[in-house]
Amino acid sequence: MKRAFILLTVGIVVSPLLQNFTRKTAAADLQNDPRITRVLEILRGSANAVTEEQIRITEIPAPPFQETARAAYMKRILASTGLRVETDETGNVIGEWPGSSTDIVMLTAHMDTVFPSGTDVHVKREGGRLLAPGISDNGTGLAALVALSRAFHEAKIKTSSTILFAADVGEEGEGNLRGMRALVETYKKRLKYVVALDGSATEYVTTAALASRRVEITITGPGGHSWSDFGAPNPIHAMGRGIARFVAVRVPDSPRTSFNIGEIEGGTSVNSIPSNAHMKVDLRSESETELSALEGTLRDAVKAGIDEEMSAARDRGMAGASNLLNLKVNVLGIRPAGELAENSPLLAALLAADNQLGNRSRRERSSTDANIPLSLGIPAISLGAGGRSGGAHTLDEWYDPAGRELGLQRVALTVLGVAGLE
Ligand SMILES: [Zn+2]
Repeated sequence: MKRAFILLTVGIVVSPLLQNFTRKTAAADLQNDPRITRVLEILRGSANAVTEEQIRITEIPAPPFQETARAAYMKRILASTGLRVETDETGNVIGEWPGSSTDIVMLTAHMDTVFPSGTDVHVKREGGRLLAPGISDNGTGLAALVALSRAFHEAKIKTSSTILFAADVGEEGEGNLRGMRALVETYKKRLKYVVALDGSATEYVTTAALASRRVEITITGPGGHSWSDFGAPNPIHAMGRGIARFVAVRVPDSPRTSFNIGEIEGGTSVNSIPSNAHMKVDLRSESETELSALEGTLRDAVKAGIDEEMSAARDRGMAGASNLLNLKVNVLGIRPAGELAENSPLLAALLAADNQLGNRSRRERSSTDANIPLSLGIPAISLGAGGRSGGAHTLDEWYDPAGRELGLQRVALTVLGVAGLE
């Protein structure tokens, strides 16, 4: 999960029309149904068991592109809640809760973490807190997926829409949302709503997708000896010149836009002219147009850096035909933008759930699994699954399950609000 910033101010902002709609449909029906009361009770009573499940899930490593072991476990426990479970070609685990119609509401939680293989994922307890890399992002979401399926079964819920409980792969970083892309591709004709559970919290809802691009830039050259070949074009010098130009670029506050050079490497020893330099750059914006412009600026800056380095080599008489620099730009990932419509029944269901539970949500724009459906016009939100956490994407990540039941109930009411009860 990469939450970005607050789109609207704190508080529930609803138009009178939307409030009416909310009261008349989802909220009223759900509040009066004894099966819903039962689901809420079950979730309230199962908070400790959910925490134990979250620990078991977190302790199965799931580095980028290595979600298989965790997927096998998720398949087993989702099946134990009564779902028919399958694993697709991409590695997603999909449990089906059949409804009376073929329309699909999809509840997802990503399985991958940002941590490389070999990271210690043993969960430690400190007071009320649980500590482990990935404990909240996304142990919280995965445990909630299981908890909700179990609660729906125990309460003998019957829904109109079919609900898919999907533990998906490849949400983080270079995973590039490949799991969600595959799910949307498979089910898009029947897919009505997507709710992506990511991390903890109950005080926000992600209703807008932040566009991002990850670009890898490689400059190669002839290399050489630092003394005897001095003056030959140096890929690291060229990249440095390009970086200096690029980071001086002014990006707009609105639409908010950002850039980060997050990785850089190259060369083999201090007294060798390197034959290569690499960097990975993360670009984000609320606007696709701004993002494309920024990628253009990056490419131009690096090209100008190479030209400048070549011109320096020429001045030193070291720019012969065999002494050239080459540029390769590789786009590692594209996350498209999109927004949930203001009058979407999904937003109404979330607000009704908040209303019923006395919760308040602020709306956020962020880069999550919801980017993919939102970019295709399929209504989607991303939510935390309750409790509190900190240190996401660091080895000091922690999770505090206090208040988790509110998050679970909020997700349940939202999903059932759009799936509809039979
Ligand atoms: Zn996440």
